[in-house]
Amino acid sequence: MKKSVVIIGGGIAGLTTAFKLKNSGMEVTLLEAASHTGGVMSSISSDGYLVETGPNTILETSPKVTELVSDLGLDSEKIYANEISKTRYIVRNNKPVPLPLSPVAFLGTSLFSLRAKLRLLKEPFIDPWDNQYEESLSQFVIRRLGQEFLDYAINPFVAGVYAGDPDHLSVRHGFPKLYALEQKYGSLIKGQIKGAKERKERAEESKQKARMFSFRKGLKTLPASLEEALGPAVRKNTVVTDISPKGNKWEITYQTDGRPEEILNSDCVIYAGTVYQLSSLTVERQRLKDFEYFRQIYHPPITVLVLGFKREDVRHPLDGFGMLIPKVEGYHILGALFSSTLFPNRAPEGHVSLTVFIGGARQPEYADKPEKELVEIALGELKILLGVSGKPAFVKRVYWPKSIPQYDVGYGRFKDKLNELTKRYPGLYFAGNYINGISVADTIVQSCSVADEIIEGAKGAETEKEE
Ligand SMILES: Cc1cc2nc3c(=O)[nH]c(=O)nc-3n(C[C@H](O)[C@H](O)[C@H](O)COP(=O)(O)OP(=O)(O)OC[C@H]3O[C@@H](n4cnc5c(N)ncnc54)[C@H](O)[C@@H]3O)c2cc1C
Repeated sequence: MKKSVVIIGGGIAGLTTAFKLKNSGMEVTLLEAASHTGGVMSSISSDGYLVETGPNTILETSPKVTELVSDLGLDSEKIYANEISKTRYIVRNNKPVPLPLSPVAFLGTSLFSLRAKLRLLKEPFIDPWDNQYEESLSQFVIRRLGQEFLDYAINPFVAGVYAGDPDHLSVRHGFPKLYALEQKYGSLIKGQIKGAKERKERAEESKQKARMFSFRKGLKTLPASLEEALGPAVRKNTVVTDISPKGNKWEITYQTDGRPEEILNSDCVIYAGTVYQLSSLTVERQRLKDFEYFRQIYHPPITVLVLGFKREDVRHPLDGFGMLIPKVEGYHILGALFSSTLFPNRAPEGHVSLTVFIGGARQPEYADKPEKELVEIALGELKILLGVSGKPAFVKRVYWPKSIPQYDVGYGRFKDKLNELTKRYPGLYFAGNYINGISVADTIVQSCSVADEIIEGAKGAETEKEE
């Protein structure tokens, strides 16, 4: 029997599940509220610059990611980040210092004091956490690696990846691999060594080693190709307002372009929308307290400011991935990606482009300041840190009032609630960046497993019938 599935939301999560299910022979319909698919993933070409409005890179941490790109026939469009981007700068004493990548470089770096380096040697001898209570990332890092490591490695990294604050993020839910290293091996250093061997066996890459990629025409290529492959199964400008279980089927109510509501019936429904929008969806026309519960998940606001400069107006060689700024350094920008170093065709000839992030959980009040003010702040700070002079040749600002779900301490209660809901409502599934990691790669992997679960379920039902 051909199973029908309605997917709510056309970000990378919804598109991936829809693509996988369609390829397995299921009848899929994807309903997306916006006029474009991709969700936060979108690229804009303007004045010779290629701007990523949301994610800039995808880390190839799982074969599922590689497979998806290949299945779409995008291997020739895929570009890996410039080798030089292995260098990442962290600001210390108002100067960008390369993050050491080897034990020898670590010994010689000025990023950490001698005391911090000696403190690290203690790490393998510290007992693992006994889980008396759930630790924040800060508590975990101070306990195992020391305050300076938190300030000059973890704090800037977390601001860059999560737009987050390590004092609130849960090590267990936000950084499960780090948490598991300690629980399994008793030490991060010992775990790194042993874990590398195990990952090799599973053909997985660690986040540090995985290669970063984009596409010639920007990350938008991925959702655009998925949309093309799905063809008429994708309906844009379509908001789902209600889902109602009817026997062993689902009735999905939606509105396209503000027209009167329409109804679709399906065997399964996947919610792949943003988790903060879940509360506006009703079940059997009733607001559900369990959906409203997810409004507690904090999504800090962030501004992405893409600035273009003439090459000679930036003194720094921009020979790396970018620069991250620890909170203790007291700046207003969280950091800057060296976008035109990362990939070709991001800026016109003779120009460079920097992608600056402002706001996040560190300074949410800065994210929605007027563009003029933000550009002034960024220029002032980039002048000190990268030797930027003169006016920018290009400015594009993108504001995300609710950027990335924060897996804060206590996040397990949301995962429990999702499990409870899927048990209570057979045929309802969840996919997205609020389940097993916020990165594009983690979202793809989670979405593939949702699709696999539905496919396996359908096969199981088929076999039972035959018997
Ligand atoms: C500024 C920024 C930078 C980032 N940088 C990176 C990076 O460099 N690398 C990386 O790996 N990750 C990065 N991320 C994270 C990553 O991009 C996201 O976590 C991921 O793309 C989210 O995908 P998603 O499909 O879960 O959600 P979304 O992309 O948010 O898509 C959800 C979709 O559902 C739709 N929707 C919601 N409700 C309904 C409804 N009722 N009916 C119909 N449609 C609905 C929405 O319109 C939206 O299109 C970044 C995120 C942001 C915001």
